[in-house]
Amino acid sequence: MLPGLVGLLAMPDIDAMDALDQPLTNLFEHYVDLETQIRNLTAPFSHQYCQGCSGACCQEAICKESVESPFLSTLVGMQTIRYDPARGWQSTAGCRLEFGRPLVCYEYFCEEVLESENFQNACIQEFIRRFVSIGSKAHGNTHLLCISDLDILTPRKIDKIRDNILLLLAEIARVRSPTEP
Ligand code: SF4
Ligand code: SF4
Repeated sequence: MLPGLVGLLAMPDIDAMDALDQPLTNLFEHYVDLETQIRNLTAPFSHQYCQGCSGACCQEAICKESVESPFLSTLVGMQTIRYDPARGWQSTAGCRLEFGRPLVCYEYFCEEVLESENFQNACIQEFIRRFVSIGSKAHGNTHLLCISDLDILTPRKIDKIRDNILLLLAEIARVRSPTEP
C-alpha cells in the first residue's frame, strides 16, 4: 500500500458505493447485514471475556487489513472514521469499526472464548466459520477480501456470494427467533 493512503481510505465518504455497479452495491449491503448479525451474535461473548482482557488480541497489524483489502476498504470508506497508523481502529471503548473488520477479528482464537459452553451451544462457532468462508474462491482460489480489483468478479460469482449471504442470514434469524416458522 502507498504511504499515506491508509488515512485517505478511511476518510468520510458516504458516496463510496456510487462508483460501483448495482450487483456489487447489493453485495456490499448484504455483507454489512451479515457482518452486523455476526457482530450482534458475538457481542455478548466479547463483552464477557474481551472487555477486561489484559492480553487483548487487537493489534494495528490486524486492523490494517481493513484498509488494504479493496473490499473491506470500501466498507471502511462509508464510515466517518479515520485510521490511526499507530493504533488502527483500537480505542479505549473498543473497536471503532462498525463493519468491514478483518475476518480474523471474529474468529476468537482464544481458548477461554472458544471453550465457553454458551458460545458453542449458540452455534456461534459454526456461523463464524461460514461467515469467514462466504467469500472463498471468489476469483479462482482467491478470497473476496484478497481480490485486488473487484471488477474481475463475474456477475455469476457475485450472485452466488449474495445467495450464500442471504442463506446464512436466514439461518441466523431462525436461531435468534426459534418460535417463528
Ligand atoms: S479473544 Fe481472548 S485474548 Fe482476545 S481480547 Fe478476547 S478474551 Fe482477550
Ligand atoms: S476488532 Fe477492530 S481494533 Fe480489533 S483488530 Fe479487529 S479491526 Fe482492529
